[in-house]
Amino acid sequence: MIPEVNTIEDLLKAVKAPINPIEVEIDADTFYNSLVYGKEMRNRYSILQLLWDLGLLEKYSREVVNYFFKEQLIKKVSLPDKEKNILKKVKCFILDMDGTFYLGNRIIDGSLSFLESVKNRGKCFYFFTNNSSRNAKYYQEQLKKMGCVVEEKDILTSNQVIIKYITENQKGRQVYLVGNDYLKEDFESAGIKPVDDNPNLVVVGFDTTLAYQQVSKACHYIRNGVPFFAVNPDFNCPTEKGFIPDCGSICAMITASTGVNPVFFGKPTHHTLQYILDRTGLREQDIAYIGDRLYTDIAMGKDNQMNTILVLSGETRKEDLALSKIKPDLIFESLKEVKLALDKLY
Ligand SMILES: [Mg+2]
Repeated sequence: MIPEVNTIEDLLKAVKAPINPIEVEIDADTFYNSLVYGKEMRNRYSILQLLWDLGLLEKYSREVVNYFFKEQLIKKVSLPDKEKNILKKVKCFILDMDGTFYLGNRIIDGSLSFLESVKNRGKCFYFFTNNSSRNAKYYQEQLKKMGCVVEEKDILTSNQVIIKYITENQKGRQVYLVGNDYLKEDFESAGIKPVDDNPNLVVVGFDTTLAYQQVSKACHYIRNGVPFFAVNPDFNCPTEKGFIPDCGSICAMITASTGVNPVFFGKPTHHTLQYILDRTGLREQDIAYIGDRLYTDIAMGKDNQMNTILVLSGETRKEDLALSKIKPDLIFESLKEVKLALDKLY
């Protein structure tokens, strides 16, 4: 008979032996790999081999890693001193919208008082969204309907990032644009009137009115050597009814047909980092990016000095953190807790 876990733990503790991977200073990745590849070490049929044969080893290995590392990782990330230092020195917060500031049509509890705290402390904030099916004006209206009044200039979008880039670096380009009216509106008010024929740049956005003819035309131009830009890299957009295909998925179809990958804009690209620095006039280390997604929001801090704050009010769950290579500087349950931490500074 196999003894209970507690019995084994007690026996190990009695002889001062380690009882978890953290005590022997193994990181989450190494521990995961040791579970998945351990079965290759000796020629015998173990429970690891059985799980592998049933197609369950990776799933259960992730659960075991989370069991040991979840709380430990969060504690390690959110050290009180580190928290204080970052929140004190940051001059500007860039906020993701869905999952961070609101969920669906409802502002997340504490979001509005967070903005108040930021203003009261002489710091500033901007919103940033990758959603290229809308524009800043639309978001200003949406926020107003939910009870949050901000100016249009407070909302930064991936549309603005790509438009600024084209205006500064690709002036005079004839653009074939695959996108919604909001995106077209943004291009036109920047003086770029999309064309139907003979373009020398193809731009694809999150087009929720996508038609086969347009995709086909875009593929034709790209195949003939016209450069291919994409407004945002997201594969999916979360909605109340689940995921819907976003710009990245539309581009994947075009790439499958043409063999050409687009140049992406929006977060987490360096184009967006540069845009944020230009708009705020601040340095990377003066800014904190707050968001709920590791691979877009938190990835904004990769290879640069921008601070990143993960909130657990949207997509990311605590258990996603252990195995993610993208780690935030700080973690909070929601903006409400960021506000409380800000208030404690003074
Ligand atoms: Mg989000």
